[in-house]
Amino acid sequence: MKRALITGITGQDGLYLAELLHTKGYEIFGLIRGQDNPKYDLARAAVPGITLLKADLTDVSSLIRAVQVAEPHEVYNLGAISFVPYSWENPMLTTEVTAKGVLNLLEAIRAWAGNDLARVRFYQASSSEMFGAALQVPQTESTRFWPRSPYGVAKVFGHQLTINYRESYGMHASSGILFNHESPRRGPEFVTRKVTRAVARIALGHQSVLSLGNLEARRDWGFAGDYVDAMWRMLQQDTPGDYVVATGVDHSVRDLVTLAFSAVGIDDWAPFVLEDDRFRRPAEVHHLVGDATMARNRLGWKPSMEFAELIQLMVRADLAAQEVEPAR
Ligand code: GDP
Repeated sequence: MKRALITGITGQDGLYLAELLHTKGYEIFGLIRGQDNPKYDLARAAVPGITLLKADLTDVSSLIRAVQVAEPHEVYNLGAISFVPYSWENPMLTTEVTAKGVLNLLEAIRAWAGNDLARVRFYQASSSEMFGAALQVPQTESTRFWPRSPYGVAKVFGHQLTINYRESYGMHASSGILFNHESPRRGPEFVTRKVTRAVARIALGHQSVLSLGNLEARRDWGFAGDYVDAMWRMLQQDTPGDYVVATGVDHSVRDLVTLAFSAVGIDDWAPFVLEDDRFRRPAEVHHLVGDATMARNRLGWKPSMEFAELIQLMVRADLAAQEVEPAR
């Protein structure tokens, strides 16, 4: 039986990945942070038989103990502080977790595996935010990085370090440069979920206005359930590598708003949406769209869900959740 260790197990991707690996018969270990983490039960309910280990990406000794217990064949590093605006407010903490956390985990693996590093394969969750103010559209594995936030800078460190451990120690270490990926499990601070949740609440009469920042930003939004499959495929290859994972189709925040409101039968959404400078960023990433040709050709991966379908799915899930939850 293969054993997998996942950091960030309670996040959107951690849960989808754990569910996928469970269907493939893996024994799954998830790292859980902090004392009395309220998400403990969430992970246990989603993934029967999961073992949750208390550890923190900023504490290398806790990571060494976790890999000693799990003895993993595959390690997926999905844990990070991942909300871009937060990274300007807390740049040090973002760097400790999102950048240095990768180093801590790789060193913990080396300390445990010793001379037998071939026994473990490593996945690093890299991000399209590394491209930032990219001059090339669409972005590929060889597009120059130009991150625009402390989060993006931290992700570049993790990405380059993963490549360095591959080159220095011959480690089977891969990175997925994942473009935005969403689902009903997406945190409500991210724009897709913020919109679908607010639209559901407006349709049910729980809320009257949705405040947003830049409506013209463009993103390549895919379904998170598809993207975790790409992670797994990377670790099944004979040789490690770095792959862009994206749909290749971009939309604006404005398109997102139109689709979400039309899912509840509202065509003229202007009376419900306010543009609010508080949600604008010190440095914006205007246009991200990925070219996943390499993932398609080498991994046999492709996205299964189009943007309109994804947004409808998220609005439906938020309607169901808001119907049982009283107005707040
Ligand atoms: P990101 O690509 O990882 O930063 O994902 P987000 O979902 O947080 O943001 C995607 C884009 O939506 C960015 O360009 C934001 O500037 C834009 N956006 C516009 N209004 C909002 C808002 O109210 N909240 C968030 N999170 N993003 C917004």
